[in-house]
Amino acid sequence: MYVKIDHTKVKGDLVRKIEEISGVDVNRCYQCGKCSAGCPGAPFMDLLPSQVMHLLMTGRVDRVLESNTHWICASCFTCTVRCPKDIDLAGVMEAIRQIELRERKDFVRVDKLPERLNAPTIAMVSAFRKLTS
Ligand code: SF4
Ligand code: SF4
Repeated sequence: MYVKIDHTKVKGDLVRKIEEISGVDVNRCYQCGKCSAGCPGAPFMDLLPSQVMHLLMTGRVDRVLESNTHWICASCFTCTVRCPKDIDLAGVMEAIRQIELRERKDFVRVDKLPERLNAPTIAMVSAFRKLTS
């Protein structure tokens, strides 16, 4: 028997919001894995970029928000360039960060930073702009 799946119900409001911000229809992903294979941040991520796409397609956005993947993402656009379906996965990662930042969840906690930080100033400025609300 053929059962028609209503993808709008599977995705839920948060995934639709991610699609709205990024302009990406996550259902277009066919899980080839080329994004994950080229991602320089993949070894440090809880979830591979292609796994993020799979979870979004199946409405499990909570699992995505729990991961560190979107914070590790360096916005290098390798995944976007490699995707055979022209999916802007870097844009999806940015949209997920925006969702978190709108909830005022910071990844970089300014009050937890050590007094003497061994990092280039520009790296910190970039991190604050990208990762804190
Ligand atoms: S490269 Fe594109 S189609 Fe392939 S898994 Fe990644 S997002 Fe999906
Ligand atoms: S934009 Fe982010 S997810 Fe995509 S390849 Fe670069 S680091 Fe990985």
